[in-house]
Amino acid sequence: MTTETVLPATLPILSHWIGGRPVEVSPEHTGPVYNPATGQVVGRVPRGGASEVDAAVNAARAAFPAWRDTPLIARSRVFFAYRELVWRHREELAALITREHGKTFPDALGEVMRGLETVEFACGLPVHLAGLSSPNVATRVDAFTIRQPLGVTAAITPFNFPVMVPMWIYPIAMACGNTIVWKPSSHTPGASQLQAELWKGAGLPDGVFNVVYGGREAVTAIVEHSDIKAIQFVGSTPVGRYVYEGGIKAGKRVGAFTAAKNAMLVLPDADMELTADAAVAAGFGSAGERCMAQSLVIAVGDAADRLRPLMEERIAKLKVGPGTEPGMDMGPIYSAEHRESIIRWIDKGETEGAELVVDGRPFHHADNADGFFLGVTLFDHVTPAMETYQDEIFGPVLGIVRTKTFDEALGLINAHKYANGTAIFTTDGGAARRFKLEVDVPMVGVNVPIPVPAGYLSFGGARDSSFGDLAMRGEDGIRFFTQQKTVTERWPEPGRGSALSLAFPGNS
Ligand code: NAD
Repeated sequence: MTTETVLPATLPILSHWIGGRPVEVSPEHTGPVYNPATGQVVGRVPRGGASEVDAAVNAARAAFPAWRDTPLIARSRVFFAYRELVWRHREELAALITREHGKTFPDALGEVMRGLETVEFACGLPVHLAGLSSPNVATRVDAFTIRQPLGVTAAITPFNFPVMVPMWIYPIAMACGNTIVWKPSSHTPGASQLQAELWKGAGLPDGVFNVVYGGREAVTAIVEHSDIKAIQFVGSTPVGRYVYEGGIKAGKRVGAFTAAKNAMLVLPDADMELTADAAVAAGFGSAGERCMAQSLVIAVGDAADRLRPLMEERIAKLKVGPGTEPGMDMGPIYSAEHRESIIRWIDKGETEGAELVVDGRPFHHADNADGFFLGVTLFDHVTPAMETYQDEIFGPVLGIVRTKTFDEALGLINAHKYANGTAIFTTDGGAARRFKLEVDVPMVGVNVPIPVPAGYLSFGGARDSSFGDLAMRGEDGIRFFTQQKTVTERWPEPGRGSALSLAFPGNS
């Protein structure tokens, strides 16, 4: 289903969340939200623009001074309360994700738990915000650093992790004493309203956390708004580049975390059973709609000949169906348009001369004929000259690339325009060590296919997978959302007379 259907009276219409309360909109200012497993409209999402962004920024600006001045431990207690509420509502959040994104319920629950890790990190904000102290840098002079919030900040997030990715951004921004305007994806907006309500329940002051829905107009308003000091964006590379360049031009701090084409390097000495499990799970989990999905297996020597049949065995057993149904491995694609785009990529792979080993295109789910289902696709003999090698497909399509040597495989990974995550599968510690040190990709797994760092560590890519100098979350996140100030102070001895000197003072 690609056309908008008429809104049945019972379907929920989401509201913007501004100043601690829902701001309702009339149905004609909304767009449809689909359940990709059925193809049916399950809700309406507001199409906000500049005026809604402005209202949210005003609320965030008004709330900023009091939130900034809230004692750290009091701020931290709000995070502990929010953490408890998210934990209590984790299944509800996961159900909302599954309904609008399509991923299986256990996968959605895993997403909530990985988001929660960053909320838990933020609970320790008094420690994270502590500065350095350097007493006696000169006679009777002490120096220390303090980290101060920036003011109103913004998050713009993608469809594929409607809970985890926002939870990688807003807890850090708010823990640092900033207020925030969050623009979720209009494809998967349902869980954002619940997150806003949980913040209210946790005792967060009104206006610290605001949600505005919308598309390009809302994003442009965020990019250009003079009262927004910093933006973290997660999504596709063209939009990320637009947000980064526009935001920088408008004088903001911007971090944009964008597309990926991750590769796992497989050496002939790898444990092939484990590697086959890893490749199939990392390639097709969440229908390949993860920025850390593996979409290329770069196999050295005879590794591909031994790995491919093991992968085929596993693929034959995969269960594709509604994410709400127990036992499913993979749900539908998130939208009808994206399903069509993935099919076009598979057509292209064939035209380009890759060997189609498993074809996901004919798959249809018997009970959900209108659902956006697609089977999994495996290509072999993919080469770097192919567009299916170079570009992100963001679907359940995995390609095997064959190389003669480790160096050739490593060179391919280092030459790719995207650099988000990568992994090596081997039993050779020396090869793994070389890979860790020489691979030019920021997130690396050794026999771990999806090396998403734990929620208290930083996350980010390089080249066309990331714009800006700092990663998300962890130490980098704290640095991104604060301005460091260095204070140098002297308390002269009482009664000391004047000793005027115009020379630049040395610290001795
Ligand atoms: P997207 O770029 O279409 O959307 C991201 C955000 O930008 C959404 O809030 C959307 O409403 C908004 N947007 C969309 N089109 C816009 C436009 N023309 N102008 C202004 N704003 C616009 O991305 P998506 O399809 O929601 O997400 C998938 C992409 O996100 C993939 O490329 C994936 O690799 C990437 N992603 C990256 C990471 C990472 O950490 N690097 C994590 C998750 C997803």
